[in-house]
Amino acid sequence: MNTTTDRPTFVSHLECSLTGTQYPADVIHGLSAAGRPLLVRYDLEALGRSLTREDLARRDPDFWRYREFLPVRQTSNIVSLGETMTPVISVPRLQAGTGPLFIKDEGRLPTGSFKARGLCLAVSMAKELKLKRLALPTNGNAGAAMAAYAARAGIEAFVFCPDDTPEINVREIAAQGAQVWRVNGLINDCGKIVGVGKEPMGWFDCSTLKEPYRIEGKKTMGLELAEQFGWQLPDIIFYPTGGGTGLIGMWKAFRELQELGWITGKLPRMVVVQASGCAPIVKAWEEGLEHAPLWPNAHTIAAGIRVPAAVGDFLMLRAVRESGGFAMAIDDDAILRAREEMALREGFLMCPEGAATLAAYQQAFREGRVTSSESAVLFNCASGLKYELPPVHRSLDCTRPISFAELQ
Ligand SMILES: *Cc1c(COP(=O)(O)O)cnc(C)c1O
Repeated sequence: MNTTTDRPTFVSHLECSLTGTQYPADVIHGLSAAGRPLLVRYDLEALGRSLTREDLARRDPDFWRYREFLPVRQTSNIVSLGETMTPVISVPRLQAGTGPLFIKDEGRLPTGSFKARGLCLAVSMAKELKLKRLALPTNGNAGAAMAAYAARAGIEAFVFCPDDTPEINVREIAAQGAQVWRVNGLINDCGKIVGVGKEPMGWFDCSTLKEPYRIEGKKTMGLELAEQFGWQLPDIIFYPTGGGTGLIGMWKAFRELQELGWITGKLPRMVVVQASGCAPIVKAWEEGLEHAPLWPNAHTIAAGIRVPAAVGDFLMLRAVRESGGFAMAIDDDAILRAREEMALREGFLMCPEGAATLAAYQQAFREGRVTSSESAVLFNCASGLKYELPPVHRSLDCTRPISFAELQ
């Protein structure tokens, strides 16, 4: 494990994502004074003098290989459960007739979803900053990841989730030692409980983008992609978008690599994929807005992207526009069909949110918004095993002769 090796970090300061106002590193921060997410900034020139792409290639295959790009100062504060680099998988049968298509399989990470990337960093920084009680609203996976890392760090965790959050998520949160409550509302209602409760309860608010470090963890997806594609990024990325940490984080990674001179040329087009029953960013993109109004009556089977309002809305929209990307909404039926198609044809069981990116890619291809000369990456953000699957009703009675002719 290279986490035990002390390496320098290059954080210079934090910066308000709206106003550019600077804030000192190494002290506790939530949102900026303007109520917007804070971004971590690095001395990239010094980083570039101390690290090369060749150095990276020799390191262990976990995301701590990007230690210099991450905010934790003291190696002893790293809380790790083995954050493996996730594979990029080709899907030759599905891509027949389209362009080169790859899945980045985030289901391999601790707690079975890419929320581990963000929460690993948030909890490590919480340890570094000596925070004792963390809280967040979640549709499931973020709560599970926070619970796991907080348990390992000996930090208390309080988690609030909508009452229709997948049962497995609620149970894994509890099993990993967090205090968890089901709330009869959506994730933004859960977020309000954290917001109001943090003073009286002494909680630090780990909500999406309300603390600065989850983005840095999610940024490693962009660093990994760059390295895995030989520092030549793919042409287009389809991302299942809820709070948008991953989209914003990857875009930040690409900018940092560009500034370092490690990648050149065009950056990938970033595509926001949401569910038709909850598509605030898609609507705002279509209407040319800079901020996304709250989406009323949000519903979709893809729980991870059921986020009716996001503090980072303008950052997602900015990344989509700067990259020349677009935004698409997908019906639940199409999500389920895409999951089935991928599983039957490629033996790859996606989570519903990941399946939404396949449906979006196929639709975009039919509509000519992506061509066969473009390489595309889809994000499978969680293990397909964390989700309910269609039931199986067939059974056999082994005490009687089996009628093999009927086993069709
Ligand atoms: C959280 C989550 C998303 C959305 O990710 P963001 O980066 O927060 O937009 C998508 N899919 C799954 C399975 C998730 O848990």
